[in-house]
Amino acid sequence: MSLLVIGTLAYDTIETVHERRENVLGGSATHFAVAASHFTAGGRAGPRLVAVVGRDFDDEHVAALRARGVDTEGLEVADGRTFRWSGRYEADWNTRHTLHTELNVFEHFDPKLPESYRDSDYVFLANAAPQVQLRALEQVDGPAFSVADTMNLWIEIAREPLEELLRRVDAIVLNDEEARMLTGERNLIRAAAGVLGMGPRYVILKKGEHGAFLMGSDVHFALPAYPVEEVVDPTGAGDSFAGGFMGYLAQAGGHGPASLRKAMVYGTVTASFCVQGFGIEPLCRPDRGALDGRYDELLAIVTV
Ligand code: AMP
Repeated sequence: MSLLVIGTLAYDTIETVHERRENVLGGSATHFAVAASHFTAGGRAGPRLVAVVGRDFDDEHVAALRARGVDTEGLEVADGRTFRWSGRYEADWNTRHTLHTELNVFEHFDPKLPESYRDSDYVFLANAAPQVQLRALEQVDGPAFSVADTMNLWIEIAREPLEELLRRVDAIVLNDEEARMLTGERNLIRAAAGVLGMGPRYVILKKGEHGAFLMGSDVHFALPAYPVEEVVDPTGAGDSFAGGFMGYLAQAGGHGPASLRKAMVYGTVTASFCVQGFGIEPLCRPDRGALDGRYDELLAIVTV
């Protein structure tokens, strides 16, 4: 089934305790689409992308996405510079400081879905202003399953449209601090229940290296992260988790409790590849067999 993502294409500058990299190809939609492309390979139509870049965006980066099967018909090139973000990670990897955000062409992003995208079945609204996410969602004709991501900024400054969005989507992806902020609950189970009370059928809480859990009326599932020996850069882990999760659902063509559980495992192992390098390269490296290998290993780790 078809899969659509609306989000950012970016150039990131990333500082870790080991190194600093400038102008790395990043962005929420980039990581998502490359992660999801593992599930749409082999003749199936690749993820559809809606995003905006500036005139400075390298053609080779568009070609790299196309080479992964990503449909770039919805990619707009606007006058100005591409969105830029820079961040620094503490040695524990869980603490990230945003150093700089340059919205550039993303500031006036008004998502326009090509006619051919309107029948998309699975929709991921990557982190953006909830008003923008709502405008994108309104252009899809009755999606089968829609998921949104958000961040602390929107919880603080765009609470009303965010609540409207929560009533419209099937699921929301949050990290633990965002869930606490949104609900005022310190306990994560209560926070998840509080989010469900705001409208979505499912909430996925990401807890970095501690894994993720999924809660809904018909499913409650938790999983640790796949243990990698060396983390190089966690940027995009959340988006590649979502790409693996949604990519699997679109491939399976279902979103019942059993599919959602498997999607959680695929999301987790896809993210584990992302953190092993900078940019999209570590996400491109494994083939589907390598993903399936980690899927089996992770299940073996958690099975009694
Ligand atoms: P993640 O590590 O999964 O949270 O995703 C990080 C990616 O999101 C980076 O590649 C950034 O370019 C992108 N990003 C950072 N801040 C924002 C923002 N305010 N809106 C949209 N995308 C962002």
